Amino acid sequence: MFTKHPIIIAGPCSAESYNQVISTAKALSDIKDISLFRAGIWKPRTRPGGFDGVGEDGLKWLQDVKQQFNLRVCTEIANPHHAELILKYNIDAVWIGARTTTNPFSVNEIASSLKGVDIPVMVKNPMHPDIKLWLGAIERFKNLGISNIAAIHRGFYYYGNEKYRNKPLWQIPLELKTILPDISIICDPSHISGNKTLVETIAQKAMNIGMNGLMIETHINPELALSDKEQQLSPLELKDLLTHLHYPAISTSNNQFNNQLADLRAIIDEIDEDLLNLLSKRTDIVKQIAYYKKEHSITAFQLSRWKEIIKTRKHISDKLDLDDEFILNILSLIHEYSINTQNQIINHSAGIKKEN
Ligand code: PEP
Ligand code: MN
Repeated sequence: MFTKHPIIIAGPCSAESYNQVISTAKALSDIKDISLFRAGIWKPRTRPGGFDGVGEDGLKWLQDVKQQFNLRVCTEIANPHHAELILKYNIDAVWIGARTTTNPFSVNEIASSLKGVDIPVMVKNPMHPDIKLWLGAIERFKNLGISNIAAIHRGFYYYGNEKYRNKPLWQIPLELKTILPDISIICDPSHISGNKTLVETIAQKAMNIGMNGLMIETHINPELALSDKEQQLSPLELKDLLTHLHYPAISTSNNQFNNQLADLRAIIDEIDEDLLNLLSKRTDIVKQIAYYKKEHSITAFQLSRWKEIIKTRKHISDKLDLDDEFILNILSLIHEYSINTQNQIINHSAGIKKEN
């Protein structure tokens, strides 16, 4: 199921009515790259009172989509009863929603209900950036013999108002790929964006970093959608997006390119070695400072010095055209390490055990 590259999954956030499902599927069936039709049948709403899905009727509509348009269909399941019903209606694949992945009890119950049925399962990342919960959910399905598993990256909840509805934190899916190199990761730019204007940029980034597919919410008439209306594309907008998107390959047999890449990487290797040597030299000086501060009973953390570091380094990084946030992140890590190193020296000479 997940071997096609890229896997494109499209369809509405929610199945709302027979006509809405069938007309969306009909429009999508004209786009040849679509691998799966999605529609939420049971909708997890953060607060009561919203549209919480059409339930079992929607599964019959999905069966019609299969028959009329030769599309495979998938939906979200959140408990064993849902699992039983999707099997009854021959749904081709399922996904586990972000709220469910967060709860190991629910994941276990669903996995047990699917035991022995090798239906493809896609596991969305949990709401908050805890890679272990994501891995744990995947393992719970694997342990019960479900082998056809993919992960869906839908971004992470954070408190506050920012550009994204859910922060992408790309390093987390990349870490998942490092731990589970064989798993396909599908990006869901709709739930990351929360807004249709960002969908294409996120989708392109997912392709640029080698993700294996996209799940994009598509509605025949997004303005009338009963859930997630801001982020849903019309079938025409999706078609347009898919034709604009570039799909870079993970590797190539072009020798000239591979040789040039190897040359540039050799330069990066040298630069990294220089960076590490500089960090080691810096740490030596930090240690000297620690002994000096200890002797004069001065705190490891000095607010005015930290402020000065941020200010002066920002001037330099601006001149060098480096990204402010990137430099601040690196400086914060270096400074934290410096404080910890000093703390260890001060504690050690005071006879206090090392912190783990
Ligand atoms: C959805 O796909 O419509 C959905 C509810 O997603 P998530 O679990 O990522 O919030
Ligand atoms: Mn949605």
